[in-house]
Amino acid sequence: MLKCPVCGQRSIGKVGADQYYCWDCCVEFIKNGQTTDIYNVEQDGTLSLFDSSQATENLQVQKG
Ligand SMILES: [Zn+2]
Repeated sequence: MLKCPVCGQRSIGKVGADQYYCWDCCVEFIKNGQTTDIYNVEQDGTLSLFDSSQATENLQVQKG
C-alpha cells in the first residue's frame, strides 16, 4: 500500500499514471523509478517543487 512520502498517511488519491495526491497534506507526488518527486499544489492548480528539508522538520514535529 502506498504511503505519502511527506506525512506517511495513506489517504492517497491517484491522479495520473504514476502521479498521486495526498489529501492530508495536499501535495502531489510522482513516482519516478527509485525516486519520488513531491510538489506543492498552489491555489491556482499549478505545481511547485516541495521543500523536502522543510518536510523533514515537519515530520519530526508531527510524529506521535
Ligand atoms: Zn501527506
